[in-house]
Amino acid sequence: MSNTKYVFVTGGVTSSLGKGIISASLAKLLQARGYKVTIQKLDPYLNVDPGTLNPYEHGECYVTVDGAETDLDLGHYERFLNVHTTQANNVTTGRIYQNVINKERRGDFLGKTVQIIPHITDEIKRNIKILGTKHNFDVVITEIGGTVGDIESLPYIEAVRQMKWELDRNQAIVIHLTLVPYLKASGELKTKPTQHSVKALLETGVQPDVIVLRTERELTQDVRKKVALFCNVDIKSVIQSIDVSTIYEVPVKMQEEKLDETVLKKLNLPIDQQPELKEWKSFLDKMKSAKDIVNIGLVGKYVELADAYKSIIESLTHAATYNDHKVKLHLIHSEQITEKNIEKKLGNLDGILVAPGFGHRGIEGKFAAVKYARENKIPFLGICLGMQCAVIEYARNVLGYHDANSTEMAINTPYPVIDLMEDQKNVTDMGGTMRLGEYACKVKEGTKAYEAYQIDLVKERHRHRYEFNNEYLSKYEESGMIASGYNPETGLVEIMEIPEHPWFVGVQFHPEYSSTVLKPHPIFLSFIKASIQNKKQ
Ligand code: GLN
Repeated sequence: MSNTKYVFVTGGVTSSLGKGIISASLAKLLQARGYKVTIQKLDPYLNVDPGTLNPYEHGECYVTVDGAETDLDLGHYERFLNVHTTQANNVTTGRIYQNVINKERRGDFLGKTVQIIPHITDEIKRNIKILGTKHNFDVVITEIGGTVGDIESLPYIEAVRQMKWELDRNQAIVIHLTLVPYLKASGELKTKPTQHSVKALLETGVQPDVIVLRTERELTQDVRKKVALFCNVDIKSVIQSIDVSTIYEVPVKMQEEKLDETVLKKLNLPIDQQPELKEWKSFLDKMKSAKDIVNIGLVGKYVELADAYKSIIESLTHAATYNDHKVKLHLIHSEQITEKNIEKKLGNLDGILVAPGFGHRGIEGKFAAVKYARENKIPFLGICLGMQCAVIEYARNVLGYHDANSTEMAINTPYPVIDLMEDQKNVTDMGGTMRLGEYACKVKEGTKAYEAYQIDLVKERHRHRYEFNNEYLSKYEESGMIASGYNPETGLVEIMEIPEHPWFVGVQFHPEYSSTVLKPHPIFLSFIKASIQNKKQ
């Protein structure tokens, strides 16, 4: 029997209270005390993974090194912990049912009736425990998506109940996150929604061990006492989570509230070592004291929902902080960019980033943004589709290939400068079939990319079906756009850049997935540095 301890994080009252950030903050504090911790997200929807979801539904799809398409909360986990996650860290109801049904088809259940309890709950428990046993973690923090009371999350809560019952009392605990709204009219903080939500949890047989209260205002001692009394917990287990200006402050706030100590005590783990947060706090200080502003335009088609670009926005924040600047983000809808208004839309920017994406909607606006950045010598970073747009724009306006395109946008283009990868041509299933996960990239010396990385071999994460068409490479290189990074095994182009431009780099991979608070990504650092330089001029 492994000694791994399990912490479950559930949510009540409303969604979007920040369970992911609380989980990541607790993990950070435990990690800073020397514990080996990981975080897992269980999502109650029926998609097998979020890869097939429109970004408007659940925000960005985060890709792990092993090529799993996962929930954006895993991005927070990696940015906070600076440790890789894998497919095992994100499980959906779809995947759980798929596994159970596959077993049923194989005959593994030996004629038994297959039911939600015990078969689905057993599969949920297996997916939780596997992290602890296989990877030897001291603590596994499992975040249950959704809100207590939802039909979808019932089997998960039942699995939690069973695990609490099966394991020693101090081997599994539940943290319940709720909201304490402030009523202006009466000038009061209200605990009733929390009481109801804990009741809903109790009805399923689960007593929370710790209650975290999200609030706009400081909780009084009376409010804390009331929650403790009505929710059956000791007062030290009532934790305030007050609104802060940056998510990176939450671990510090949670430490002030002694969330980590309370959790360790309940898990019967030693608390002698104080958390080592020096580097974290110095990042936070840097972030708060930065006064100078760098204006970055993020051109994409999902800009109505900033969560669709979560990792990019966080990566820009990391890079700006390390460059002693604050990033002012301008989210620009590519569908709204026209030849006429482009000066107004992009004229005040210090740097332009064209985002990843799929399909032709808004593509012309992206080409226009690339052209503007290229001609006006504004630092430019193109990511995935953004890189492909840069290649297409160059073909059309510099190489004179007028109808050049990606075969994703125009299947019969006379100049398919971006084309479907060979091994993608026979793919029919959409889920989990892209070029996914980490691949090597050889970086050419003497290029902007090399200046950023300072090493000649890197590994970056991918999520795409189309690629640069190498038949055209010599034409590009003859006229001023070069491949500064390529895959050493397949020769696939990974980075394109224009040496004559102050900073114009397009990357086929996604650097945003691997920028963390303590390890900002070199490509973002260089892009921001160039944008600051541009601003000064
Ligand atoms: N749609 C493009 C492709 O599949 C780019 C994907 C992306 O930006 N992630 O190649």
